[in-house]
Amino acid sequence: MIVTVRFAPSPTGRIHIGNARTALFNWLFAQKHRGRFIQRFDDTDTARSKQEFADAILYDLHWLGIFQDATEYQSRRIGAYDTAVERLKAAGVLYACYETPEELDLRRKVRRTRGLPPVYGRESLALTPEEIAQHEADGRRPHWRFLLPNFTSDPAQPERTDIHWNDLVRGEETVDLASVSDPVLVREDGTYLYTLPSVVDDIDMGVTHVIRGDDHVTNTGVQIALFRALGAQPPVFGHHNLLTTTSGEGLSKRTGALSIEGLREAGIEPMAVASLAVLIGTSENVEAVPTMAELARRFDPAATSKSAAKFDPDELQVLNRALLHHMPFGQVRDRLMVLGISGERAEPFWMAVRGNLDKLADAASWWRIVNQGPQEQPDFLEEDREFLRMAFDLLPEEPWSDTIWKDWTAKVKEETGRKGKALFMPMRLALTGLPSGPELADLLPLLGREGTLARRP
Ligand code: GLU
Repeated sequence: MIVTVRFAPSPTGRIHIGNARTALFNWLFAQKHRGRFIQRFDDTDTARSKQEFADAILYDLHWLGIFQDATEYQSRRIGAYDTAVERLKAAGVLYACYETPEELDLRRKVRRTRGLPPVYGRESLALTPEEIAQHEADGRRPHWRFLLPNFTSDPAQPERTDIHWNDLVRGEETVDLASVSDPVLVREDGTYLYTLPSVVDDIDMGVTHVIRGDDHVTNTGVQIALFRALGAQPPVFGHHNLLTTTSGEGLSKRTGALSIEGLREAGIEPMAVASLAVLIGTSENVEAVPTMAELARRFDPAATSKSAAKFDPDELQVLNRALLHHMPFGQVRDRLMVLGISGERAEPFWMAVRGNLDKLADAASWWRIVNQGPQEQPDFLEEDREFLRMAFDLLPEEPWSDTIWKDWTAKVKEETGRKGKALFMPMRLALTGLPSGPELADLLPLLGREGTLARRP
């Protein structure tokens, strides 16, 4: 058996970090088991689904480091769903219903006042051929419900019917099919809701493991019944907890700030997003994991907690800094080149500044400082200016040794009597124009003697 998973968003917007969590859980699971990852677009809602969103979702996934083995669109598979519908009708488990939303609403209210569960009472199943003919003559079109197997002989008398599965994340799970309504599979206009196409695809595409958010737990009970009604063995299911904002709100595709696109534009590294999206809400420590292979080694779906995981965007900044801090030059060479940072000084420059970056693009301003000098001339006190002039006059001739910074400042200390902050701060300000930044010992060799002397105030 080849482990086969799928990530199945509706292409109705950009994906956010919560969607990325689902995609990554599937991707890492596939990586761990040398399996296949199918990118499936649940685009049966043609009014809201857009190809541009599907393309953008693929772009975001590739940026994260997720690469699909196949891409599928439900809108291109309607024939397969039609075949499944015929099969369910022939088996007598798909029935026509004629209620309007208002009628259903009223019935739900009546059931509630009688203390009955607010599930569909299967009234349409009891319609006589004459009543059906009357509805059709009135111009009503049916929607179609799947008859859940939750009764012995009389569908009007549902009984407790537990569907069990061993959830990859949550362990033993149970859904009582008497507690849910027969799901509508086909709308009045003949279009499909999500429930049936998903099952048909999972069967046809050989999906072995369905990993998705825990908002689908009840669906799983229903879908397991549907797999069986279609003569298929249900896959293994896993439901991970959802991410919420720090105030506990759910994320939505409309929350632009937490979209993968928004995070990318804010300069967050893909592995910072992936590390947080995967490790938060688990028993693992949330830390910056540098590669997807390493994250796959750490990933254990069973270590995921059952309650919602609060997500704090500030944590991304922390992880981002940690990743950049240790990022090898080989991994950023091309991206630095795009920022105009190249040549033989690019590598020592990167090693000097990486520990000071919030985001990679910040390297460009340090490159400007190294090449052009401070962006703003510091306003020195007269005594500091004099000190600096003396100090710069003590700068050793080239060639410089590796200990040039130490040698120079030792000499300055000896000649001027200054030490500590009084010595280093004016020098830092003169060399960079800023009160903090990379180690001056690392920057000085990049400036060279000429570049350094050009900064003499
Ligand atoms: N389109 C569904 C969703 O985004 C897919 C759920 C599933 O993975 O089956 O919620």
